[in-house]
Amino acid sequence: MDRIYFDYAATTPVDPAVAEAMRPYFSDKFGNPSSIHYFGQEAKKAIEDARSKVATFLGAREDEIIFTSGGTESDNFTLFGILWGNAIRGNHVVTTAIEHHAILEPCNFLEKHGYQVTYVKPDNNGLISPEAVKDAMTEKTVLVSCMHANNEIGVIQPIREIASIAKEKGVYFHTDAVQTVGHIPVDVNDLNVDLLSLSAHKFYGPKGAGCLYVRKGTRIQAYLRGGGQERHRRASTENVPGIVGLGRAIEICREKMDVEAAEQMRLRDKLITEIPKRIKRVYLNGHPTRRLPNNVNFSIEYIEGESMLLNLDMLGIAASTGSACTSGDLEPSHVLLSIGRPHELCHGSLRMTLGRFTKEAEIDRFLEVFPNIVAKLRAMSPLYEEK
Ligand SMILES: *Cc1c(COP(=O)(O)O)cnc(C)c1O
Repeated sequence: MDRIYFDYAATTPVDPAVAEAMRPYFSDKFGNPSSIHYFGQEAKKAIEDARSKVATFLGAREDEIIFTSGGTESDNFTLFGILWGNAIRGNHVVTTAIEHHAILEPCNFLEKHGYQVTYVKPDNNGLISPEAVKDAMTEKTVLVSCMHANNEIGVIQPIREIASIAKEKGVYFHTDAVQTVGHIPVDVNDLNVDLLSLSAHKFYGPKGAGCLYVRKGTRIQAYLRGGGQERHRRASTENVPGIVGLGRAIEICREKMDVEAAEQMRLRDKLITEIPKRIKRVYLNGHPTRRLPNNVNFSIEYIEGESMLLNLDMLGIAASTGSACTSGDLEPSHVLLSIGRPHELCHGSLRMTLGRFTKEAEIDRFLEVFPNIVAKLRAMSPLYEEK
């Protein structure tokens, strides 16, 4: 069976050119970048090359790039590092109700340990209002963190406006840009951010490699302590192949991103217009236009998301849902709930995320089989009546 992958927001395949660039750094060029001999210096040079590529993509300085193990670490590093580094100024964080768990879980932990967190809610389109962020800030606020684009509904936030509000008050601003870097332009000065998280495996690089951009002059404490790597800001022997892969992946994205985004947008819009023509009672989740070029998210009434996924998977099609029946916790997606979708519609959601290797024939195949799956599942639903 030819399998079809519509889950690029979960992870992407490593581009063959990226794998090629990484290969020598597993065995031939295996040195520890902290060693002063030839082997070490060879590895160190590879890291600095990658740093330069990441800095170029982001419009940052090279010394503002700290390599990490990925998005989760960069988000945790930001929260703990900024709070620890600015304890004399306050203990309050403003974030949003639709962040990734990599922000929400450490925030939850911080609240249990004496810190305060305010979660700004989005409107029904998934947009965060800069005014609401302004109202949430107090004298004790040391950090505002708002994601660049949401991983479920793809909504792109007005980061520049939100960041400016934080900075007017002298408060640090962080954005989780894991879903945007490599897909749309992300410039740290344009966006006016102090900190930014990215992760290689979301843009055709390897898993376990990412970075935190930290604007020069930002007071931040190390999160991982040990050796003196990354100018004492992040201990642990560098993941050299991973970092090389990250650098190569971001370089390829810089070249191809505009063309790829245009093509993905065309396929995305085909799904967004065709699905409601073929199936009744479906609702698009997230802003109709301010969304990632590759994101489609619908709620389908009278259907349970995981049955939909299993039926698609049997036909070789991989997608994702905000439902949560098999995962044990019965709460559906916090993102869909916070944009005001009732529980049934959250459980009936389908996310399709497209990417570099998506073909139009795959979109057509989906459009051909999906109405039958919906009809079959609705026929089994006690709630559904043909209207
Ligand atoms: C995937 C993702 C993360 C986590 O990144 P990892 O590199 O997998 O740890 C964080 N935030 C967002 C928005 C993501 O999509």
